[in-house]
Amino acid sequence: MSRFWSQTVRDLTPYVPGEQPKIANLIKLNTNEHPCPPSPRVLAAIRAELGDDGGRLRLYPAPNADLLKAAIARRYAVAPQQVFVGNGSDEVLAHIFMALLKHAAPILFPDITYSFYPVYCGLYGIKHRAVPLAADFSVNPDDYCGPANGGVILANPNAPTGRLLPLAAIERIAAANPDAVVVIDEAYIDFGGESAIPLTARHDNLLVVHTLSKSRSLAGLRVGYAIGHPDLIEALERVKNSFNSYPLDRLALVGAVAAIEDEDYFQAACQQVIASRERLTARLTTLGFAVLPSAANFIFARHPQHDADQLAQALRQRNIIVRHFKQPRIEQFLRITIGSEAECVALADALRDITG
Ligand SMILES: *Cc1c(COP(=O)(O)O)cnc(C)c1O
Repeated sequence: MSRFWSQTVRDLTPYVPGEQPKIANLIKLNTNEHPCPPSPRVLAAIRAELGDDGGRLRLYPAPNADLLKAAIARRYAVAPQQVFVGNGSDEVLAHIFMALLKHAAPILFPDITYSFYPVYCGLYGIKHRAVPLAADFSVNPDDYCGPANGGVILANPNAPTGRLLPLAAIERIAAANPDAVVVIDEAYIDFGGESAIPLTARHDNLLVVHTLSKSRSLAGLRVGYAIGHPDLIEALERVKNSFNSYPLDRLALVGAVAAIEDEDYFQAACQQVIASRERLTARLTTLGFAVLPSAANFIFARHPQHDADQLAQALRQRNIIVRHFKQPRIEQFLRITIGSEAECVALADALRDITG
C-alpha cells in the first residue's frame, strides 16, 4: 500500500497464477502446460521471421493480425470477421468482460470455476452472482436459463474440475438468454470435448474463447482468440484499439499460424495426453482416489483417507508440484496436470508410497 495508489488499485484482488519455480528435476504438474513441445513448424516459422539479423523486429507487427485470423477462420470454417485474437486468452477474456459483460444486471458463473473471472469483475466493477455447482460438480443448465442477467461465462470443460457440459446444454443456455452474451471458455476443449464454435452460426449472442497455451503447447507464446458474431468481435476490436494496437508480436503471429495449420501434429499431441489421462485415472483409482471424470489435460482427485494439503506437501518434498486450492468445497482435492507418461508414472508411484 502506498499513498500513490489509486482507489482502483487499492480495491483490486489480483489473480494468483500457479507458481513457476526454477528447481532442477522438478516434475511440474501445477499449471496445465502440455508435456510435448509445440509443432516443429512453429520453430521453423519463428526462425524464418527472425531471418539472419532479426531486422524485421525493427518493424511493428500487423496491427490486425490478418494472416492469423485467416488461418483460424479456415481451421474452424468461419469468416475472418468472426475472429478476434489477443495476447493470451486471458487478455481476450479481459476485453470480453469490459466490452460485453459490463451491464446493470449481474453476470452469472459457477461458484467453482476459473478464478480469473471474479478478478475481471473486480477490475471493471462488474456485478456477478456465483451459481453453486451441483454436488457432483456438474453445471445445471437450468440455473442459467432463469430471469434476465448481464451475461453468462462458463469454462467448458470447467476448471479446475475437468467436467464437460454437453453441447445441447450450451445451446439451451444461449437460446434462453437472447439479450445477453454467453461466453464459453474452451481452454481445454481439445482434450475430449466438442467445440461450441459451430453454434455461433445460429446464436448471435454466443462467443467461444480458445487458447494456444494448453492443447497447442504454446503457453510461453501468449496467443488466444475468440469466435462469434461479427458484432461481438467488433466490440472487442474497439476495446483492443483503445488499449494496445499491437498485442501480438511478430514471433507470436507467425508461430501461431504454424501451430494452427499443423493439424496432424496437434491431433497426435492431444491423443497422447488423453491416453495418459486415462491410464493415470485408472491407476489413482486403484490407489483409492476418487477422480472426477475429466475431458481436460488435468484431473481433479481426492483421497478419502488423506488430507489434500498434506498430500501436496508430501509430493513437493519429492519434487512434484500439483495445484491445491484452499477454497470451500474443493479443499480436499488436488488438481494434477497430465504430464509426460514418465511424469505420470512418477506421480502415481509417489502417491502410492505416500498413501500406502
Ligand atoms: C489457462 C486458462 C486460460 C488462460 O490461457 P492463456 O491463453 O494462457 O491466457 C483461460 N481460461 C481457462 C479456463 C484456463 O484454464
